[in-house]
This record gives sequence, C-alpha cells and structure tokens, in this order.
Amino acid sequence: MNSDKYDRNVSLQCPTCGATQFEYDEAVESDHAKVRCVSCDREMTKEELIHENSENLDEHMREIGEQALDDVANETKKSLKKAFSGNKNIKFK
Ligand SMILES: [Zn+2]
Repeated sequence: MNSDKYDRNVSLQCPTCGATQFEYDEAVESDHAKVRCVSCDREMTKEELIHENSENLDEHMREIGEQALDDVANETKKSLKKAFSGNKNIKFK
C-alpha cells in the first residue's frame, strides 16, 4: 500500500503555536528536510515535526483508514471500526 497518496490528509501542527501552515523545500524528499512554521518562524526538521505530532498522527491514521476503505483488507476495516467506536469524543477538522 502506498501511503504517500494520503499525506495530504494529515495536518501537522506546530508544537510551539499550533499553526498548521509550514514552508518547506519540496525538492528535498527527506525526513531531515527543514520545515518552517509560517506563524511563529520556528524551524525544525520534518522528522521532528512528525515526532511532535505523533499523537495527532495516530488519530489521523484512523481517519485515513476510514477514507481508504477501498484500499484496505476487510480485517483491517473491522479493527478500524472498532477503534473508532471507543473514541467518540475525537473531532477532526
Ligand atoms: Zn509555530
């Protein structure tokens, strides 16, 4: 499964100010590429940003799972549904 096609669905948040807009060099396809928060100018690597957002990413992965039902196996679908049923208070923007 190619996870790259779901990247656009993940909103990473700046760990300093919570903004979701970042500037980065699209030519650099590396986790060590620098990204810069357009709101507070904090610079970090993509890897750091993803690490800081790891909890959010877990939630997003469930959301992506819902959107990708056609792509996943039935067993995975069932376990995702189960995971959702216990998290009714989670809201996605
Ligand atoms: Zn920021």
